[in-house]
Amino acid sequence: MKTWGIDLGGTKIECAVLDAETLSVVERQRIPTEAGKGYGHILSQISKLIGQVAQNVGEMPARIGLATPGVLQPETQTMKNCNTTCMNGRRMLEDLEELLKIPVRLANDANCFALAEALMGAGKDFPGAEVVWGIIMGTGVGGGLVVNQKIINGHHGIGGEWGHNILEDGGELCYCNKQGCVETVISGPALERAYEKLTGTALKLNEIIDRHLASSDVHASEVVERLLENYGKALSSVINIIDPSLIVIGGGVGNIDLLYTEGYERIKNIFLTTGNSPPQYANLFWGIAQEYLEQPYFGTKYSINNR
Ligand SMILES: [Zn+2]
Repeated sequence: MKTWGIDLGGTKIECAVLDAETLSVVERQRIPTEAGKGYGHILSQISKLIGQVAQNVGEMPARIGLATPGVLQPETQTMKNCNTTCMNGRRMLEDLEELLKIPVRLANDANCFALAEALMGAGKDFPGAEVVWGIIMGTGVGGGLVVNQKIINGHHGIGGEWGHNILEDGGELCYCNKQGCVETVISGPALERAYEKLTGTALKLNEIIDRHLASSDVHASEVVERLLENYGKALSSVINIIDPSLIVIGGGVGNIDLLYTEGYERIKNIFLTTGNSPPQYANLFWGIAQEYLEQPYFGTKYSINNR
């Protein structure tokens, strides 16, 4: 018995087939999304990938789970808030079931990531964790909230999302039509844009980080400072509300070691300055479980390098 899952990203689509009992990965493949070619093309890429994987596995899926950006609105059954904007307004679940001729379960990718990590990944080392917040920092910024092992989907399906909280007044215009969203400040592309604005030179985020660590580029250090300070602000404002037991960070930006050292200090500075260790934080334990991110269950890791 095998379990099939697909992670639909803005740049690539990944399919993983797991052994349903051991949860070990039987097969894993990815192909480019080529989102610029439109909604119909994205669907045909999904179908093509399933065909390719089925050849190696020796069978077609009986059903499939699909992690997508954005949410399927319960009332209208149409997609919303996808950063791959051509998917918005589309009846994606219905269209996929018609195309693939099998039952499809569709859920927000950050929710899939958070639930997988809470139940099968990082959360295994924190069995008493009541509140687990899984966050994605990569091409986009998202999140999923798991309370007592269940996803908090929320009234509009945006539970756990923090990428479109306003972080910078009058900041960059976001695709969601607001200005200065978290995503426009600390996502990978946003940080690369900030560097380019300062220097006129386009660099990949990992190069910017390397230059900062080598103390060889003052502008790279400026961008890293911008990341750390805003990371502290953005996270702590949510932490103060949900008081998580465990935060798991995924995504290309989430691979930056500094977030777990200096970034963690920034968060602590912000949320602990409200008093002398308020009791609600007395038993707070943190496990930002970076090591698990090397083997995410459904490929929810967005790699800046492969963008
Ligand atoms: Zn936004």
